[in-house]
Amino acid sequence: MNYKEYVEIVQDWPKKGVEFKDITPLMNDGDAFRSSVDEIVKYARDKEIDLVVGPEARGFIVGCPVSYVLGVGFVPVRKEGKLPREVIKVNYGLEYGENVLTMHKDAVKPGQRILITDDLLATGGTIEATIKLVEQLGGIVVGCAFLIELDYLNGREKLEGYDILSLMNY
Ligand code: 5GP
Repeated sequence: MNYKEYVEIVQDWPKKGVEFKDITPLMNDGDAFRSSVDEIVKYARDKEIDLVVGPEARGFIVGCPVSYVLGVGFVPVRKEGKLPREVIKVNYGLEYGENVLTMHKDAVKPGQRILITDDLLATGGTIEATIKLVEQLGGIVVGCAFLIELDYLNGREKLEGYDILSLMNY
């Protein structure tokens, strides 16, 4: 399937100079959304995944259906102040801004095999921070899956040594 037909490119959003890839049309189409989830499931099948971990908010949209089909749990990674119990934290730089990501301290057990999901890999800062959270708790990141990878921002370089799937490249 040509998923790019379902991505709207929005110029100068959320700020001037950014060419935002809007994935809501893909989510809006049942066949395209299911097909993209199925491809990530296919990628993950033989990796013996114990848990899917995704950063808010679009990492949930991609990760939750994948975890449901695989029959494994889903762990939300959230911005500071959003999770109700004890958390671990990592600071990270975003394509536009600075942020803190958190995860519940008991969300991942040592040795668990983790698939990380997000809608889009840009500079890699979000996923690098998510990997740090998982690894702090002793999890093993066995794959990272994205709908979109922005090749021109070189996020893949930050993720050297990790297995990456992206369904679209720009
Ligand atoms: P990174 O940390 O890799 O620089 O940025 C990736 C994060 O920012 C992802 O969580 C993603 O949701 C968001 N993001 C950055 N640029 C875009 C974009 O053009 N489209 C979408 N859908 N998300 C983006």
